[in-house]
Amino acid sequence: RHLPYFCRGEVVKGFGRGSKELGVPTANFSEQVVESFPSDISTGIYYGWACVGSGDVHKMVLSIGWNPFYKNTKKSVETHIIHTFKEDFYGEILSIAIIGYIRPEKNFDSLGFLLDQGDSSAYIGGKCNSDMFENKKCCLSNLAV
Ligand code: ADP
Ligand code: MG
Repeated sequence: RHLPYFCRGEVVKGFGRGSKELGVPTANFSEQVVESFPSDISTGIYYGWACVGSGDVHKMVLSIGWNPFYKNTKKSVETHIIHTFKEDFYGEILSIAIIGYIRPEKNFDSLGFLLDQGDSSAYIGGKCNSDMFENKKCCLSNLAV
């Protein structure tokens, strides 16, 4: 009921989940920006549009999750932009428009949001098998359509 939702803030260092190593970097917002979100917004996976600085607008998938760094007492908001950037953009202003909800958070893996059973692609209209990595590609390519 909070959608569409617009948010803008600085990209900060995350807490080293190593998502980039898996090919799914997630640009983290600061605690302050996270706290400006409606407190009752559901955790889970969302999609929408994103823009870094004054750059182009790209599709994105976003995770609003419980932050293990704070023993799950605070939320984290992480955006994976469907675009290959030449460089990292820590310190830049990320603007996002969240337009839809894909599914609830799953707790078996903090990176589960793209490495899971492929239900995001089911939502978008694709098909994935259950292999984690194939799924990731599959979900991403479906989102990128
Ligand atoms: P951290 O734990 O610091 O968030 P990640 O492994 O999640 O590290 O990588 C996130 C960083 O990768 C972002 O802050 C950004 O600077 C960079 N990055 C490069 N490409 C992307 C992309 N397509 N989507 C999100 N972040 C990206
Ligand atoms: Mg991250």
